Amino acid sequence: MRCLMINPAMLNRIRMVTVLTVSLIVFSALRCGAVSTPPQITIVFRYDDYSSRSATDLERHLIATFQKHGVCCTFGIIPFVKAVNYLDVQPQAGMPLTPAKAEMARNAIKAGAMDAAQHGYSHQTLQSKPGVWHTSYAGLDYDSQLYKIRTGKVFLDEILHTKITTFIPPFNSYDTNTLRALEELDFQCLSANLSG
Ligand SMILES: [Zn+2]
Repeated sequence: MRCLMINPAMLNRIRMVTVLTVSLIVFSALRCGAVSTPPQITIVFRYDDYSSRSATDLERHLIATFQKHGVCCTFGIIPFVKAVNYLDVQPQAGMPLTPAKAEMARNAIKAGAMDAAQHGYSHQTLQSKPGVWHTSYAGLDYDSQLYKIRTGKVFLDEILHTKITTFIPPFNSYDTNTLRALEELDFQCLSANLSG
């Protein structure tokens, strides 16, 4: 399965354009299939960084759009997003997903517009070296990874009334210890870079 990622750093408008562009690709592929052997294509829409700090108005419109067209989008949900800046390695408070954002997610799941995935724990990067790819997991010991993923999953499963089985590591970065922890916690899908 190839996941289509929407870069969280892009502006909201660009996010919407990206979604529309993907839609056009799907449409074109289906049209091509009409004149030859129909291809089997699975497209996964993915929206990252749903959290207590993310753009609620944009997300409300995004969910409504997917719901209107009967399409489901995978939302990478951050359980305890850092309160200030998750690209800063300095200690800072975590903000649990608010009851209002959880309710919005539950309604979207119920409507078939959202597939909830866990997007890390707090999304905080582990390193601050310039020019080096950010990560929340790669290089971290197994017990620490297991603790962070488990704590986030227990919280999200409870507040969303679901059992999350997809994990999206922040920055799409992970290592073998991440995979071991995901297996231990019964995750079924990892959506990330091919390298890891
Ligand atoms: Zn992210």
